[in-house]
This record gives sequence, C-alpha cells and structure tokens, in this order.
Amino acid sequence: MAGKEEVFVGSIDQGTTSSRFLIFNTAGEPVAVHQEEFTQIYPNPGWHEHDPEEIVRSVENCIEGALKIFEKDGHSKDSIKAIGITNQRETTVVWDTTTGEALHNAIVWTDTRTAGIARELKAQKGSDKTMNICGEPISSYPSATKLLWLLKNVEKVRKVYEAGNLAFGTIDTWLTYKLNGGPVMNVFVSDPTNASRTMFMDIRKLQYSDEMLEFLSYEFDLKKVHMPKIVRSADKEVYGKLSTGPLKGFPIMGCLGDQSAALVGQKGFEAGSAKNTYGTGCFLLYNTGDKPIISTHGLLTTVAFDFDGKPVYALEGSIAVAGSGVKFLMNNLGFSQASHKITELAESVPDNGGLVFVTAFSGLFAPYWIDDAHGTMLVLTVGITHHTERGHIARATLEAVCFQTKAILDAMQKDSGHELKELKVDGGMSNSALCMQTQADLVGIPIVRPKMRETTALGAAIAAGFASGVWKSFDELREVNTVGETVFEAKMEKRDSEKMFKRWGRAVQMSKGWLAEE
Ligand code: ADP
Repeated sequence: MAGKEEVFVGSIDQGTTSSRFLIFNTAGEPVAVHQEEFTQIYPNPGWHEHDPEEIVRSVENCIEGALKIFEKDGHSKDSIKAIGITNQRETTVVWDTTTGEALHNAIVWTDTRTAGIARELKAQKGSDKTMNICGEPISSYPSATKLLWLLKNVEKVRKVYEAGNLAFGTIDTWLTYKLNGGPVMNVFVSDPTNASRTMFMDIRKLQYSDEMLEFLSYEFDLKKVHMPKIVRSADKEVYGKLSTGPLKGFPIMGCLGDQSAALVGQKGFEAGSAKNTYGTGCFLLYNTGDKPIISTHGLLTTVAFDFDGKPVYALEGSIAVAGSGVKFLMNNLGFSQASHKITELAESVPDNGGLVFVTAFSGLFAPYWIDDAHGTMLVLTVGITHHTERGHIARATLEAVCFQTKAILDAMQKDSGHELKELKVDGGMSNSALCMQTQADLVGIPIVRPKMRETTALGAAIAAGFASGVWKSFDELREVNTVGETVFEAKMEKRDSEKMFKRWGRAVQMSKGWLAEE
C-alpha cells in the first residue's frame, strides 16, 4: 500500500520481440509489468526489420499499462524516482534531424543482408585492426554495416545524408530522442554499452574513433553522419524527461544495452562473474574488470557498464539463434505454438538420437564468426534416419545453444586465463529445465537460475537507481533477487558430454564446408 517511504524505479525493456515496462521496488521486485509484442518484418530471406515508430508506440503503451496496474494497487506515481532504459543492441535506425522522422525501418541485429558489405570491407581493407580499436570483427552483426547498407541502397537516406541532416542511432538513442519529444528537445545520446556495439567507438576512450570511422567509410564519409554523444550509463541530467503520457516530466537516468543490463541485473559487478541470457539470441558476458581484454579466440570486447566514468569491461560470446530456433520450429515447421511444449517434446526422447542441428540462420556468431553458414540439420549417425522424430528435432534445437555456449566458455577461459566457477542464467529459454540441465552437463559447472528472471529490466532500473540515489552502492544490492534460485549441477559422464560436443564441432565444420563447395 501507499506509504510515505515507498520508492520505485521504472524500467523500459525494449527487446527484439517485445517491449516491456516494469516498476521495481527497492528490493528489486517488479510490482507492475506491462508487455507488448510488435511486428517482426522479414522482407527477404535473411532480412529482419522493425518499424521504429511502432517500437516507440509499444513502449508508450507499456508505460501506460504498467502504470494503471501500479496505481490500481494503491501506489502513487510520485514514488517513481527515475526511469532506466535497456534495449536490443546493434539494431540501427536512421532519421532526419530536421523532422525527427525515421527514414527506413530499423535493421535488426539478426539481419544478414550486409554479409556482402562485410566481405568487401574485409577484402579491401583487411580485418586485423578492428578488434584492437573497437573490440569487434567486421561482420553483419554490428551497426556499422547496417548503416552503410542504408546509405548505399535507400535513396531517401542518401539525400538526407547529402543535405547533412542524417542521424544514426541504436534503439537506446532513438527511444530517448523520441520519448523526449524528438527535434524539439533534441536529446541525442548513447551509453558506452550500446556504442560499443556499433564498431564506431574506441573501446578504451569511450569516444568515436576517427580511425574506425575512416576505415568504415566505404563510399560514404561517416563523419558526415550525426552520431549521438556518448555519455555514462547512469546520469541524472543527460537522458532528459518523458514528454508525454502518464509519466510526463519523469526523468530517464539510466541506459544499458540489454546484455550489459542483464549482467548488472545479475549483480555481475565484480571481475570474474558471468551471466548467460537465453532470449531470441543468447549472450554470455564475462566481467573482466577495468581493462578491456582483446580476444584472440572469437569473442567480442564490450563495455559492461559505466556508472561513474570508470568503465567496467566484459568479454562477450554472442549466439545469434537461441529462442528464435524454438520459434522456427513453431512458425516454420508446424510444431506446437507454445514454447514450453517444445521443451516437453524434447523431453519425450531420452537423447538427441544422433541429430545435430546447427541453427545458423543468421550465420554463426561467436566463437566461429561464419557470416554465411546456413542452417544445417545433420543426422550424424548413419542408419538412424527412420528413427528420427519431432522430439529429436526439438531436443537438437535446444542443444544447439548449449553447444555454442560451451564453445564460448572454452574460448573465454583461453582469453581470460580463468576458469569460471558458476554461470548465472536468465532469458525466456532458461525456463526450459532440460535446456539448463544440458547446459550444466556440457560445461561441467553449476548453472544458477534466479527465480525472478526479469534481470535485464532490473539492470536498467539499477542504473537509473544509482543515478537517482535510490541505491548508493553495489553492496546495497547484495540481497536483491537471491531468494528461490535453482541450481543445475552436471550429471552426465564427462566422456559422454565430450562425445556430444565433438559431434557438434564436426557438424559446424560440415556447415561451413557445405557452403564453400557451392
Ligand atoms: P527477447 O528478450 O530476446 O525478446 P525472451 O528472453 O523473452 O526474448 O525469450 C523469448 C524466447 O524464449 C522465445 O524465443 C521463446 O520461444 C523461448 N522460450 C520461452 N520459454 C521457453 C521454454 N519453456 N522452452 C524453450 N524455449 C522457451
């Protein structure tokens, strides 16, 4: 009930398939939530777009919906001290600075239309130096090639660029810009966790790198594109205020890309902690402390958070297809339309029956980085084709993400020189106990799943909470979200899990080889 000392923080969680607004109390519990899915646009094979205006509307609806619940439960909106934003990363929006209108659908992080641009860039300019400057290799994944594609292929975008009015932003920037009222207030910022996904930012200086901008200026001068100012992930002033809706005038004070937000929400504040989020894709972040480690094993270097001008870094293993593999079974292969039914189906068979599914619809990300791998479904044990049933396909789809996580953890241990003690998990697919048990079996360390799995949203609330003084130190958050954890311990014989993983490795090689021969 409403009381004088009630204090809350709002969190906008703008994900790949849905938007959410959650209101957290100081114990880190969500007291009101509203979620809305929005349209996924697939204009061509491998293309994936969102309507930027629809994204903004969905967020506004979520704020309205959650606030209704909040007030109905007797809370006063004045007890909401600040709002944080977390968002799908890399997804690229371009707009006209004079009108504030988007010039094209957003190109989503999963989109592979720029594989050709990435290949050309590598061929023309080499691929050695980008890792050390921006922490990422050239691929279709970061925002850079998406912006280049828009400049090259969309006349409207090119014209606005030529007139000197082209703005580029990831979803955090687009949302803060629009929620502040667009060109009127002209709030045009991004935080380092988001900016480190573009290829434009110097990972050490947390500012745009002239060298990267020149390197990426492929037919177009990227310095002529307006890019948001890079600011801290938690800040009282720079993110502005909501300009409409029931929370009009309420300040935005925190901003984190979704995977960084999940690390923060899992309280991965210290070097050596790690989390894996099984959402549409799957992303493992390993906190490496105050110095970036440049991977030599296919991982990305990213900013974990920057709350006070002292950035904390992470090594990241990105997997393009996780929950979207489950969705593929439901939408393309006619499997049951409920995600948990896919897990039930997978549980109906004792093992994968020899089936390995390389879910490379968007190429393979870490640690393989194969832009043009295609989905490969291989029955690797000769003579069992007739035995294969839907349960095996479901199981192989869940396992694909566990295999890739194992490959990422192996790479992380090589890069960091440390062995991980446990892995914290969250995201929709972590609901699947089978998937989490398989993960524990494959990596051989405990998998720790919190009861409250809105950790991404919690992370953004924590950022805003730090800026607004709701929380003052990491210590104050120690007890947040610790009740009711589930721990999955490895049960499988090591010999068996090694054999499974070896098969996966062979299937990946086949997936690669298959295309090379075409
Ligand atoms: P995002 O934030 O990327 O939109 P979520 O974290 O909400 O994604 O996760 C959604 C994904 O998790 C969906 O693809 C869904 O199919 C999958 N998922 C949810 N529950 C289960 C389950 N019990 N078994 C398997 N997959 C699941």
